[in-house]
Amino acid sequence: MKIIRDPAAMTAWSREQSRSGVSIGFVPTMGFFHEGHVSLMRMAGQRNDKVVVSLFVNPTQFGPGEDLSNYPRDFDRDSQLAGQAGVDVLFVPDTESMYPEGARTTVSVQGLTEFLCGADRPGHFTGVTTIVTKLFNIVLPDEAVFGRKDFQQLVVIRQMCLDLNVGVKIIGHPIVREDDGLAMSSRNAYLSDELRESALSLSKSIILARRSVVAGERDVDALAASVRMLIDSYPETSVDYISFFNDQTLTPVARIDEATVLALAVKIGGKVRLIDNSYLMSPEDNQV
Ligand code: AMP
Repeated sequence: MKIIRDPAAMTAWSREQSRSGVSIGFVPTMGFFHEGHVSLMRMAGQRNDKVVVSLFVNPTQFGPGEDLSNYPRDFDRDSQLAGQAGVDVLFVPDTESMYPEGARTTVSVQGLTEFLCGADRPGHFTGVTTIVTKLFNIVLPDEAVFGRKDFQQLVVIRQMCLDLNVGVKIIGHPIVREDDGLAMSSRNAYLSDELRESALSLSKSIILARRSVVAGERDVDALAASVRMLIDSYPETSVDYISFFNDQTLTPVARIDEATVLALAVKIGGKVRLIDNSYLMSPEDNQV
């Protein structure tokens, strides 16, 4: 596996591949890999001739007071895991080369980003769509794989590609979970054993909601009340949002149907903000 740090060298490599008719699958990440990341890399490899993974902890998607400076990092382990997953290039730019002084342009998507994970994190999605645009322009992939764990991010990036005629096919990957249901996340590394128990409140809520829907419940208020009660029953949990929305528009719904997604954001132990989501009716492959 090649490690490339310079954006111009990355583009040169990609152009070389494209000239010989090779397709490139791309997985953007912030590192500290777990089985979720590795699974996205494998999917990119199954669908394409070559795989590029970027590892960049993007400062512009973190708000003040968020965990940018202590975001977990382990380059040696990450490069080992990426190599084992069959990745061809690990692209590891530094902040100066991605955000040289004097940069004045951002990319933002209106109407899908002001609520859910955007409500308490103003600027977060502009940071995401700007860095993804830059990475697409550098890596020149045919396809990019994103996890459905960040459901809103996936919808926002699809909209951005549609609106700006970005010729990269966006592929969604199901949520990868630990055996006990906890959605894998680099931020799980912050959890003590006790807090990890509380973190299970997210996946347990999804199981509860899916079961209630199977039993006939369709009313969002009733479901939201039982989900909130379940989360509140775990120590050191504080609900950021419990939202039932349409999978295309992300607008809230009053009654459950096949297109309804339940998404949760919960702070565990006051600091660790975890997210999870699931369709409630469709026999989706991202079930708990
Ligand atoms: P991150 O490094 O957290 O920015 O994540 C990089 C990519 O991995 C994003 O597309 C995430 O949605 C995806 N991802 C992270 N955790 C999971 C998971 N548990 N299952 C599936 N995809 C994931």
